[in-house]
Amino acid sequence: MAICKECYSDYPDARKDIGYDICIECGDKHARKEAIRKSKCIAPLFNKGSYQYIGNINVVKSIGR
Ligand SMILES: [Zn+2]
Repeated sequence: MAICKECYSDYPDARKDIGYDICIECGDKHARKEAIRKSKCIAPLFNKGSYQYIGNINVVKSIGR
């Protein structure tokens, strides 16, 4: 098991392998903050092109996994 750098609880090594150094619980908190931040950031991008908007949505979804 890997140890979360934020709350020091353990989480699956598979999660560390995909690049996370925090547990699922902390990851969710961050993902939610990121999603809120991104939803504000992508609003201007959406006007320039829908491809950027779709790309960002996929990133937000993958963070939650
Ligand atoms: Zn944690």
